[in-house]
Amino acid sequence: MLQHIFLYGPPGSGKSTIGRLLAQALDLPFIDLDTEITRTTGRSIPRIFATEGEGRFRRIEAESLRKAVQNSPSAIALGGGALLNPEARALAEEHGRVVCLNVSFPELQARIQHGSSRRPLLEGSDPVEQLRGLMAVRAAHYGSFPLRLDTDGKLPAETVWEAQKLLGRFRVRGMGAAYDAIAESGGLAGVGQALRQRGLKGPLALVTDGNVGPIYLADVEKSLLAAGYEVHSQVIKPGEASKTIDTVIKVWSGFIEAGLDRGSTVIALGGGVVGDLAGFAAATYLRGVKWVNLPTTILAMVDSSLGGKTGVDLPQAKNLVGAFHAPVLTLADPDTLATLPERELRSGLAEVVKHGIIADPDLFALCARGWNDVTAQMGRIVRQAMAVKVQVIEADPFEQGARQSLNLGHTVGHGVERASGFRLSHGECVAIGMVVEAQLAEAIGLAEPGLVDTIRSTLAGLGLPVEIPEDLPRDQIVAAMGFDKKRSAGQVRFALPVHIGEVRTGVEVAGWQDIIMGL
Ligand code: ADP
Ligand code: ZN
Repeated sequence: MLQHIFLYGPPGSGKSTIGRLLAQALDLPFIDLDTEITRTTGRSIPRIFATEGEGRFRRIEAESLRKAVQNSPSAIALGGGALLNPEARALAEEHGRVVCLNVSFPELQARIQHGSSRRPLLEGSDPVEQLRGLMAVRAAHYGSFPLRLDTDGKLPAETVWEAQKLLGRFRVRGMGAAYDAIAESGGLAGVGQALRQRGLKGPLALVTDGNVGPIYLADVEKSLLAAGYEVHSQVIKPGEASKTIDTVIKVWSGFIEAGLDRGSTVIALGGGVVGDLAGFAAATYLRGVKWVNLPTTILAMVDSSLGGKTGVDLPQAKNLVGAFHAPVLTLADPDTLATLPERELRSGLAEVVKHGIIADPDLFALCARGWNDVTAQMGRIVRQAMAVKVQVIEADPFEQGARQSLNLGHTVGHGVERASGFRLSHGECVAIGMVVEAQLAEAIGLAEPGLVDTIRSTLAGLGLPVEIPEDLPRDQIVAAMGFDKKRSAGQVRFALPVHIGEVRTGVEVAGWQDIIMGL
């Protein structure tokens, strides 16, 4: 649980290179097992092979693996045959997750021939033939690891990013201290350990709501208690209506009763409402205490829990009061989505589709396969959509430029949301907004032909609305859009899709009001 990351694969697949870069990306220590062996034995690996044979080498290797796993969580590059032994494999799988790097034979051959390091199993008269033989013998072995990653034709940085998506492990930089954003099935059961590993202090004040609490609070508290924490939990009423200063005052009072001091940690367990509110309470209590976000809705996992925005609503508008206050950890457990009401799930998927349109055609294509395929792969959906958000906020932590691409669908969407008196959910309005904004993009010749249909059919396939309801007065939507607090200098500027994978920000559309009035 939340432990080591092992890099594995055939000789020349890039275990050390990728392992070192992955460690850097995640701020983890890096261990190269072959280097460790050389260091501890004082002999090179080819030499151990030559003088003592492969059997002896494998025993030394297993021993150094046993030592390595005792370290704090690290990225560990293994030798190409280190997990052939079932005991070594069990040890690795018990202490972390193994990413097996794939490489095609021709590419491997090229890499080995250009590489400088000596490979003990490829020292014969015909290394290429030997390599072919080795790959054939080990194909089933490498293929048996569930996390596999093709590296052919990719730059190391790309492979590292792919590995992060596969693992659901990200490091968000740019606002305050860097923090981990993790998506891991079963992650809630390991939350106590995750807090300990990060040196977070109690007493802990946990905030959840009346729907999430009864399902998940006991397990989370159990994990926190097992890690030696004192936990004080508060349960707020579910729903957006709770996202007010009144609720924050109650939560602050709870912090005082719990004896929270400046070194203590707040935990949010729930959807966006709980996260925004508890995060804001943490941002302001004693001028700011640390907080951990445990999002349980898809919307919160891929969107609101990332980026450090916290806040509450005022009667006049949503999210009008708040603070940028990044959590010290965001840990999303996709298993919790199993209990999320279906309408919430569909609504959250609108933001996933948005992330696909902004930056991940592969994610969009998965969404286009429809409800059944999407719900069968929620873990992957969450990891990939999280990745997009992480990428965007890192480029622009305080929403001055690139982050505006996340506004796709929201300029119109917010108008629809307000005009409907919040009868439609946020995600439903964003779905409608994305279709309408794609129509605007098509009207000004920005969007690639057919884009409106592509977006519309994907959203419809997930059961989301794709047009403005008949009974919503268009003029009210237009008026509500003018009120949007994100407009700059009185002009409404849109983030509009160009094609799947690219959005243009700051676009002015002459006559947008007339286009919407005509829909
Ligand atoms: P959002 O993340 O969409 O802002 P909210 O915090 O308003 O969401 O949560 C939406 C609704 O779903 C709320 O009623 C909340 O109590 C409930 N909820 C959140 N997460 C779960 C879950 N994993 N299982 C069941 N209900 C949940
Ligand atoms: Zn949104």
